[in-house]
Parts: sequence; structure tokens; C-alpha cells
Amino acid sequence: MSAVDALKITDWRSKIPRKTWSIGIRSKTDAITLHYNGPEVITSNQSGSGLLNQMIADAQWQMRPGGLGATNGGDGIQYHYVIASDGLIYQLRDANAKLWHCGDSDGNEHSLALHLPLGGSQNTTAVQWSATLNLIKALMSDWNVKNIRVLGHLEWPQSSTVCPGPVILPKLQAWRNGQESQGGITHIAKDVAAANVREGPGTNYPIALGGKAVMFPGDTLVYDTITKGQTIGGDNRWLHRSDGVGFVHASLVDSL
Ligand SMILES: [Zn+2]
Repeated sequence: MSAVDALKITDWRSKIPRKTWSIGIRSKTDAITLHYNGPEVITSNQSGSGLLNQMIADAQWQMRPGGLGATNGGDGIQYHYVIASDGLIYQLRDANAKLWHCGDSDGNEHSLALHLPLGGSQNTTAVQWSATLNLIKALMSDWNVKNIRVLGHLEWPQSSTVCPGPVILPKLQAWRNGQESQGGITHIAKDVAAANVREGPGTNYPIALGGKAVMFPGDTLVYDTITKGQTIGGDNRWLHRSDGVGFVHASLVDSL
């Protein structure tokens, strides 16, 4: 049984309107995105049948012609799961479905969408937040997602939004900061000409992607682990890129 299966999740997939076509299936899953509603949600629509009506209305809005910036709109509601104010979790879409929820190609292609039916400065209830974290942890386990890739919508670089708002984002960030680091984000240093990404932690390994994996000053490097490898200039640390392409020596990045 998967970690998500062990949670009591109610399946609403057949209750939410869908188009006859689908955007597709994610090529890879290594991230989770948390969303909120934007405008405040009345209390009666934060759980139970009111929440179902809210999700049906959201689906219809996202599927309208021109919705989500697409001529024909979306293929259905663009969240995989919603967490109600009473702590109940509902599944809205197939877990492997690619959805248009981030305004960011990496986020849409690689992340699961979690929704909180709250807006403005509305806060979660205690049971709602603990259920949200339980769902996040189960999804991290099932899909092998690192905590640095559990993001608020606005944290995706291409997005332009305030989602998930001024109350929920700091809660998510506080949780993430309280976790043992599973990597981090840095940049290729300004004073290097280029940084080769090697297939292993040493210069005797080939440059990855058939010699094409080269990064340049200022490029963002997301890493999941720091591995001991060949010592260069007294430093044996190699950063493993979270997308699995390969390893970059620690002397080539800004800070760790
Ligand atoms: Zn959002």
C-alpha cells in the first residue's frame, strides 16, 4: 500500500466536470505545489457539499473558453487534491495527470497540485493544516519528492501570482525550513567561465548529456545531495543535481 493509499482520501473525480480530452501525463514527478483560492471562501464552502459545489464551479471556470489562457480552456479542474477545513482530503484528478496550475513549465510538467479552499488572509484550521502536511509527506514518500521541491505557487520562477497568499505561504516555508535539508539551491559562480556537469563526482567522468551538460555563471543549480568525490583545490564536495543529470564541483558555485 502506498503512503497516500494509507490516508483516508475520498474520490471526487467522477463528481467534477471534465472535458473529453486530457492535457496529458506528467513526464516525471519531483515536486508539489500548494495553492489557495485567491478571493476569500465562505465557511460553508470550505468543507462537505459546499466544498464540492465550490470545486465544480472552479472546474467550470477553468474549463471555460479562454480559461487558463487556452482557447478552449482547461480539461477539467486543475488540482489533484483539495484539503477541507474539517481535515478531510478529496482527490479531484488522476494523480499522474499533467495539469495547468503553475504558470510555469517546470511546475506544470513535474508537480502535483494541492489546493486549500481559502483566500485573502484566511488561515487553515489546525486539522486542515495537519492533514495538508500528512498529504505532502505521503506524496513525498510515494513520488520521491525532496522537501526543497515542495513549493508555494508563487515560488515557481515563471509564475506571476500571490498564491498561496500571505498566511499560507509562510506556514509552508516554516515547515520546509524545519525539515532536515534535502539539498538546496545555489548558482554557478560569476568568476568561472563554465561549469561542466559530470556523470560522476570527478573530472575523469565524462560531461553528462553526451558532452552538452555545461552550466554558466549565474545559472541556478538545484541539488539534492552533496557527495564526496575527487578533491580539487582541497575540496572533495560534489553537488548532485536534483534533476539527476550529474555532478558539479563545489568550487564552481556561489555558496553552500
Ligand atoms: Zn495557485
